[in-house]
Amino acid sequence: MRLSQMLFVTLREDPAEAEIPSHKLLLRAGYIRRVASGVYAYLPLMWRVLQKASEIVRQEMNATGAQECLLPQLQPADLWRESGRWDTYTKAEGIMFALTDRHDREMGLGPTHEEVITLVAREMIRSYRQLPLHLYQIQTKFRDEIRPRFGLMRGREFIMKDGYSFHSDADSLKETYQDMDVAYSNILRRCGLAFRAVEADSGAIGGAASQEFMVLAEAGEDEVLYTEDGKYSANVEKAISLPPEADPSTFEGYKKLETPNTPTIDSLSQFLKCSPTQIVKNVLYQAVYDNGATVLALVSIRGDQDVNEVKLQNELSKLAVNYKGNTLLALEVPSEEGQRKWAANPLPLGYIAPDLADDYIQPNIKHLEPKFLRMVDKTAVDLKNFVTGSNESDHHVVGANWGDQFTLPKLVVDVRKAFAGDRAVHDPSQLLQTARGIEIGHIFQLGVKYSQAMGAVYTNEQGEESPFWMGCYGVGVSRLAQAAVEQSYDKDGIIWPVAIAPYQAIVVIPNIADAKQVKAAEKLYEELNAAGVETLLDDRDERAGVKFKDADLIGIPFRVVTGRSLKQGKVEVVKRANHEAQELAIEAVVSTLKQWVEDAVS
Ligand code: ATP
Ligand code: MG
Repeated sequence: MRLSQMLFVTLREDPAEAEIPSHKLLLRAGYIRRVASGVYAYLPLMWRVLQKASEIVRQEMNATGAQECLLPQLQPADLWRESGRWDTYTKAEGIMFALTDRHDREMGLGPTHEEVITLVAREMIRSYRQLPLHLYQIQTKFRDEIRPRFGLMRGREFIMKDGYSFHSDADSLKETYQDMDVAYSNILRRCGLAFRAVEADSGAIGGAASQEFMVLAEAGEDEVLYTEDGKYSANVEKAISLPPEADPSTFEGYKKLETPNTPTIDSLSQFLKCSPTQIVKNVLYQAVYDNGATVLALVSIRGDQDVNEVKLQNELSKLAVNYKGNTLLALEVPSEEGQRKWAANPLPLGYIAPDLADDYIQPNIKHLEPKFLRMVDKTAVDLKNFVTGSNESDHHVVGANWGDQFTLPKLVVDVRKAFAGDRAVHDPSQLLQTARGIEIGHIFQLGVKYSQAMGAVYTNEQGEESPFWMGCYGVGVSRLAQAAVEQSYDKDGIIWPVAIAPYQAIVVIPNIADAKQVKAAEKLYEELNAAGVETLLDDRDERAGVKFKDADLIGIPFRVVTGRSLKQGKVEVVKRANHEAQELAIEAVVSTLKQWVEDAVS
């Protein structure tokens, strides 16, 4: 491709809309253009990158025996009602774009495809002889994200590879899951990314295994906790650890004390000169289920610990049936406005005790549970003579005990957040370390959740009907492409890994008025492309400095310059990654670059 004929527009300045380096660079270098919040045009250079990443994904998937297909993006609401996800995905914080067609039928734009694929399997797989089967697609997904940001990292329209596998039993599912673990590692390695596979939250489904593939970068939205010995790494949402030991209580005898202006654990522990580990804090959450049922959960946890809201969500999801719901729609610390809807009296916020009276909740409000759901985190169970709230502003109680002043909630849960610096469970001498990660892939053993809900069964060897065992596996292709930039750039621009660079080489003519330069460059350009080295030709009528800057900015791995050394039959060749320059005889250019490309992608 000749730059003179290409849609090639680079920006000198950092665009104001971009916060992280990769987003700035992709905009500046003319790879993407914003059309609406979270919606981008992939310009010709970007499209090549995306196709290359897709091709690597495709090759690795095909190598495992998975088959490519393409499923509809427009999906009927009724299908989502069968799985029970229509409300979860369209109400409250749901992220599905929903619409109504001319016949008043509700539809959604696919954020993911479990429902559609389960329908296909239900109708087309009859017998165990057809199993296992793994179908995948590479397609644009739609999600009305609450906070679209960072360009392609969190878009509302983005490209994903999603695959779904069907099995007759859990062992067969595990085999495919292992294959995907290997395939995903291969994909990321081949795309030139440094990554870490981590244990991930598998939501309310429970037991099922799930792993995320994190590309390590400061701009990552996820936190990963891991140990140096390489034996443990997990998303912080899922991570477990040993809490620090609690200090023995310094209080004897139960009493109520005036503790003015101490609504936080910090202010309270300073005022009482005690350790936060001697305090029981009581955190209020509002849970809303799909049937509208609203439950106020009061979580008692040790003062130095925080509630992991993902773990809490999972606990509350398990309780959905108690409130005649199917799923949890939303969980939040009730806002002031929220409190006004249900609180009978102003709450003693910052001073709440585990026995906060149920008559703080207004009676007889539709869908509102009239009693607090009380739960206690494991860290608070064994505390003796603890400090906690008194349900009265500016007062706390000290020397309290479960079984004496307070009833220990029956619901004992593990909802504490693991922190960097905590001791690891597998080996307490290992301390958890922290890193930021960008979630690129997620592999997941779904089990029979969808097949059961949607009546997707096959006939097993005994002639009985049995629900499919399912797995699902996703790679964010467009997020991956941007993550590659986030991991690899310098002050001059992008440094593409060779395997996904839009072009591998660029031939720059410093001065297009010099016929010799033009001739040599044209020849090299033709020969490189003919030899399979994907090459650009910068034949624009621009100053040499501008051309070099642009070549650096767009991050093409190898640059060939037909400049002064032509007289000696040589050209300058520069590696983008380290700016290493050398003069090569013209005849040696094609074979050398071909070799460099091969070395880089093998
Ligand atoms: P996240 O936690 O980042 O919102 P997710 O867990 O909802 O992602 P999955 O449903 O597991 O995402 O989707 C599979 C992959 O698709 C993710 O691992 C990620 O790489 C990519 N992905 C998800 N949401 C987006 C988005 N809004 N923009 C770009 N890529 C995305
Ligand atoms: Mg995920």
